[in-house]
Amino acid sequence: MSELKIAANIVASVHYTGTLPDSGDVFDSSEGRDPLKFLVGHRQMIPGFEEEMMGAAVGERREFTLSPDRAYGEPLEELIAEFPKSEFAQLEESGVTIEVGMQLVAQTMQGPAPFLVKAVSEESITADFNHALAGKSLTFSVEVVELREATEEELAHGHAHGPGGVEH
Ligand code: ZN
Repeated sequence: MSELKIAANIVASVHYTGTLPDSGDVFDSSEGRDPLKFLVGHRQMIPGFEEEMMGAAVGERREFTLSPDRAYGEPLEELIAEFPKSEFAQLEESGVTIEVGMQLVAQTMQGPAPFLVKAVSEESITADFNHALAGKSLTFSVEVVELREATEEELAHGHAHGPGGVEH
């Protein structure tokens, strides 16, 4: 039996289910998949998640609710932007009608950026690039499946390798 506990520079594998405390709706879960694997203390996870799991051993279960400031933060006004509809011409030509509530992905210099269509007018589309869970409290039920020391390569990369982790 390992004596390891969740702490900085430990690779943790956990099964988790995330629910919205108001509705009980599940927004994410590792059920039926590999456990989620992450390198503790390297900003792979939202801050509150790691804080609440610190010191947990293999087999331990914890349940906690994070306020938005400890999860995905509050939605930011500056992440909502209006674009001329002409920029979406290619999409509309391919037969897609852009509607409010649709999830689309913009290709940016920094890579793909998902956004929610907030409003559509004759000339423009309002895009919300905030995280879909920004401004929400989140409840997590977590079970620690495996703990091990990080390899030097993982520490250099800042993430966990292997199934459930990062592939490179
Ligand atoms: Zn890597």
